[in-house]
Amino acid sequence: MCIRERGGGGRKSKRTRREEYEAQSSPMLSGVQVPRGDGSTVVRLRQGASLADFAERIGASSAALITVLFRMGEMATMNQSLDEDTFKLLGAELGYEVEVLSAEDEDREILESFDINLEEEELLEDEENLKPRPPVVTVMGHVDHGKTKLLDAFRHSRVEGTESGGITQAIGAFQTDIEYEGETRAITFIDTPGHEAFTQMRARGADITDIAILVVAADDGVMPQTVEAINHAQSAGVKIIVAVNKIDVEGANPQKVRSQLTEYGLIAEEYGGDTMFLDVSAKQRIGIDDLLEAILYVADAELELKANPDRTARGVAIEAKLDQGRGSVITALVQTGTLRISDPIVVGIAHGRVRAMFDASGNPVKEAGPSMPVQVLGLDAVPSAGDAFLVADDERTARQIAEQRESAQRAASLARRRKRVSLENLGDVLKEGSVETLNLIIKGDSSGAVEALESSLLDIEVDDEVALQIIHRGVGAITQNDVNLATVDNAVIIGFNVRPAERVADMAEREGVEMKFYSVIYQAIEEVEAALKGMLKPVLEEVQLGSAEVRQLFRSGKAGTIAGSIVRTGAIKRGAKARLVRDGVVVQPELEIVSLRREKDDVTEVREGYECGITLGYRDIHEGDIIETFEMQEKARS
Ligand code: GDP
Repeated sequence: MCIRERGGGGRKSKRTRREEYEAQSSPMLSGVQVPRGDGSTVVRLRQGASLADFAERIGASSAALITVLFRMGEMATMNQSLDEDTFKLLGAELGYEVEVLSAEDEDREILESFDINLEEEELLEDEENLKPRPPVVTVMGHVDHGKTKLLDAFRHSRVEGTESGGITQAIGAFQTDIEYEGETRAITFIDTPGHEAFTQMRARGADITDIAILVVAADDGVMPQTVEAINHAQSAGVKIIVAVNKIDVEGANPQKVRSQLTEYGLIAEEYGGDTMFLDVSAKQRIGIDDLLEAILYVADAELELKANPDRTARGVAIEAKLDQGRGSVITALVQTGTLRISDPIVVGIAHGRVRAMFDASGNPVKEAGPSMPVQVLGLDAVPSAGDAFLVADDERTARQIAEQRESAQRAASLARRRKRVSLENLGDVLKEGSVETLNLIIKGDSSGAVEALESSLLDIEVDDEVALQIIHRGVGAITQNDVNLATVDNAVIIGFNVRPAERVADMAEREGVEMKFYSVIYQAIEEVEAALKGMLKPVLEEVQLGSAEVRQLFRSGKAGTIAGSIVRTGAIKRGAKARLVRDGVVVQPELEIVSLRREKDDVTEVREGYECGITLGYRDIHEGDIIETFEMQEKARS
């Protein structure tokens, strides 16, 4: 049961507490029959729970709770998902302490209902079954200090003859074999340099890295992202090895890097510390073998990395994407057990059977043991990078786990959406007092535009106590990071001539983060100003109709450039308003689908998945561009 009594050890007995509580009956409760708590009765609810769920837990009627909530100034229907704050307020009124389960707790409960307990499995693992496993290494450091180059050097340093043909594929991770103390040993490298991947994984609870290589260019020294990398690695408790790179460059000063890093607690062995520093040149491949040996040295001496290969596999999806023709493809990093073809598997909200597996050289493999990264085909949907995967007893269990997770996620996102700020509801939330500032994130296609927009927005004068704060700005497409930030700070994202990547748009939708797109500065200013003054009248809202990806270009004297395209989402209609997007940036905001053809025929509409020829009355189209169509629809005021 989810109701438990807490404490009880205070000076007052429960009874008197309850009496006391009832004595101070609030006007909110007059005439309503609700079983009361004693002020410390804990009720645990799932994220996205509704009034009906709460009512069931405490044995009240939903109608009674609706009434109480209404008197508290909130309207909700019985099946609507409510957020934690609302539950806490309502609970306090009724004498309950409401705890909303975190996403992790909830997932643990779902798995437990299928008799799966990952923590217990790990604790109860028999020492005898554990075998050494390769270390998993992430390369981090400041931009341009040589992370990519270093990974290239690692990739090519494998023992001659162990690469069994095939072209190296970027699957997000790879293994290198090296000779070490008379043995051939493997090291696994995570192939997405940079901290974003690392933090994204950690945000999802996936600590996959054993060792971080901190790359610092000897001609540049410690830079902001160097420090950021150190912070990330240290807070994850990951062992750091420093690769002092670019020692071939004139003026390189490896000693300076060593002394700079002492400030951050990374003290070289020669200075009496316990951090290994290796001087390398990724470009000239100097010192690479020593660095690889240092990784194994640290792994053996300090980490004792072991896992049981003889059990059903568990691990993390370090990449996930939709591949044309192959469907959902993930890169799985096995952490324990061995993953095999036809294993029933569940990854986040996706499930299926392992249909095929490939290593980083594109070779098919039949099984993958601990620390081995493999591409896995056969899932029914695309999970998120960082989602854990596990092999279930059978496919049915895998499906049920995936389904329960999906419904939990949906409920949680409904609850979140209810509270997020949008330009339209700003007036309401201000009145409620839940925000005093409108937080904005501005992304634009040029720094000039971003600065102009920022300064004009900050110039808006509002008479009441509403403040406007720009919490982040940048040039380029809207990224997952922006959405994460907006989620944390309850911000609205303003895109000026830029668009989010598809995955990012999905994420914003899920998190209930509002994104607004403009291509005219004054329009952005007007809307924000109106929102701040609490008088925004949403008149027209842009509705996405469809998008198409340009695959091939044809020149035609009459029609100009014909874009041979495939419709990716929705439908493309002749005459629709369109914009042209290149690498997430709008290159032409105001175009129109001038003509539309399938094969040789003029058509009025082409749906998702079909190919077509599009002319936009615009010549400068590139392969890979995205054509988005939209229309303006009147939006009812909520
Ligand atoms: P990242 O942004 O950290 O991934 O850095 P890259 O690996 O892309 O390297 C940035 C630039 O530095 C590239 O032009 C590389 O060719 C160059 N570079 C990387 N390592 C070395 C090195 O050891 N020596 C020299 N001279 N240049 C290097």
